[in-house]
Amino acid sequence: PGEQFVPDPSKKTLVILGTGWGSVALLKNLDTENYNVVVVSPRNYFLFTPLLPSCTTGLIEHRSIMEPVRAILRHKKGAANYYEAEATNVDTERKVITVVDNSEVRGATNTTEIPYDMLVVGVGAENATFGIPGVREHSCFLKEIGDAQRIRKKIMDCVETAALRGQSEEEMNRLMHMVVVGGGPTGVEFAGELQDFFEEDIKKLVPGISPRFKVTLIEALPNVLPSFSKQLIDYTENTLREEKIDIMTKTMVKNVTNNTVEAEISKPDGTKERVEIPYGLLVWATGNAVRPIVKDMMARIPAQKDSRRGLAVNEYLVVQGARDVWAIGDCAVAGYAPTAQVASQEGSFLARLFNNMAKTESLESRIHDLSSKMNLKAGNSADDAHEIELLEKQLRRIKDVKPFRYSHQGSLAYIGSEKAVADVSWWNGNLATGGSMTYLFWRSAYLSMCFSSRNRVLVILDWLKSKAFGRDISRE
Ligand code: FAD
Ligand code: NAD
Repeated sequence: PGEQFVPDPSKKTLVILGTGWGSVALLKNLDTENYNVVVVSPRNYFLFTPLLPSCTTGLIEHRSIMEPVRAILRHKKGAANYYEAEATNVDTERKVITVVDNSEVRGATNTTEIPYDMLVVGVGAENATFGIPGVREHSCFLKEIGDAQRIRKKIMDCVETAALRGQSEEEMNRLMHMVVVGGGPTGVEFAGELQDFFEEDIKKLVPGISPRFKVTLIEALPNVLPSFSKQLIDYTENTLREEKIDIMTKTMVKNVTNNTVEAEISKPDGTKERVEIPYGLLVWATGNAVRPIVKDMMARIPAQKDSRRGLAVNEYLVVQGARDVWAIGDCAVAGYAPTAQVASQEGSFLARLFNNMAKTESLESRIHDLSSKMNLKAGNSADDAHEIELLEKQLRRIKDVKPFRYSHQGSLAYIGSEKAVADVSWWNGNLATGGSMTYLFWRSAYLSMCFSSRNRVLVILDWLKSKAFGRDISRE
């Protein structure tokens, strides 16, 4: 009762979890007429994560990199249904998922079950904290729009609070100290954006306290951006130092309090030194951890018992040990890095696979009908035999789906002061480049990857607006 979506009983129900890079690439390329498509995600929009670090300083406004999932579904030929809810359980035996809607307007949580014939898990990952005390309570993550908004507010809160008269030097220095933990691409890009914000806007608008502004990037390994080539790592570290970003490598954060980070530095002589670093803003960017729903599935499927970082899948992205369940993106372990590039190629692969499966079924049923007709000796059996032959040929071609293979297009990262680094495939070889030209390449590459023309126009306008008038530093 009250249900708006009535599944067509002649079609299989395909449930897709998530509206991130993987699930949206699947939706974009899927022929939705073949299935009863149901999308479930607590986030009713797709988020273009590569430009999220730019939202933390207001260089780009957050809505410019969001695309409503309903706008995506509206353009599909076959109707697809969307539920704004979080999947909390997958019962692979009964083939049902449990979803929870905890919308504020309801005032109470609503739990319901959705049956599936086929399920795609594309729920991404959550932020890793490694159980380090104080991280969840005191730091900001950088994964969702809400995180970027929180950071944007907090930067200005630190600046305005530090500018208030009658405080100790120590307190002003603490407030103006922005600490970033994790020297992966997220941490490096954010540190670069933050330093730009300071150089281009804060310094001019709040000159009194500007000498105290400092960004520190803390990384446990011997260098930042470990997945890039040695040449680009050196270039990045030199550029960050030129920008006056303090890089602390071989430094492992062990504990976080409301205004200090406690870390252990590994010295060249093999000894360790414990340091206490006061901070005003702390951004935690130490990578991915498995979401509870995925952990739960891994614990319940015996074939997943050796998997640690997500759902182990085969070369067709089928979850090992589960029937009719596929996994894509950051929640799947297929042997690739957890990136948007991988997730979107996996989503597009599944769309091709599902489109083929639907075609196969329709061809098989046509062949079955023609064979029955021939057995009953009705109609022209020579024509039917010829058609069956053609259909079988077509079927063999369609059934021959090659396994998923990731094609790496290269890695790009913004490192501040209008410079970027790129490790890209170039004429069958590799090109490692950094600098201002790479920055223009970075901008045009990300612009072309934006989800829609609307996003593209909004991002360009934001860039122009910030260039002409500076970033908007009002704190709301
Ligand atoms: P996501 O995109 O994270 O989407 C997961 C979806 O699942 C979301 O819609 C979420 O709301 C939903 N969900 C969560 N829990 C549930 C649940 N229980 N039930 C239903 N739905 C659920 N990669 C690159 O290749 N290039 C880059 O430049 C780049 N830049 C990045 C910058 C930042 C700041 C960050 C954080 C990441 C960046 N990445 C980049 C990595 C990239 O964003 C991820 O690898 C990618 O988002 C993974 O896609 P996904 O579909 O697996 O998950
Ligand atoms: P990451 O896993 O790439 O890096 C996290 C870093 O944090 C690691 O270098 C790790 O050594 C460090 N770390 C962990 N614990 C620490 C501690 N206690 N103290 C100090 N350092 C610690 O994480 P990320 O940067 O968030 O990236 C996640 C994924 O998203 C990666 O696959 C990345 O390639 C992708 N991504 C790509 C881009 C891009 O291509 N421009 C941008 C952002 C993210």
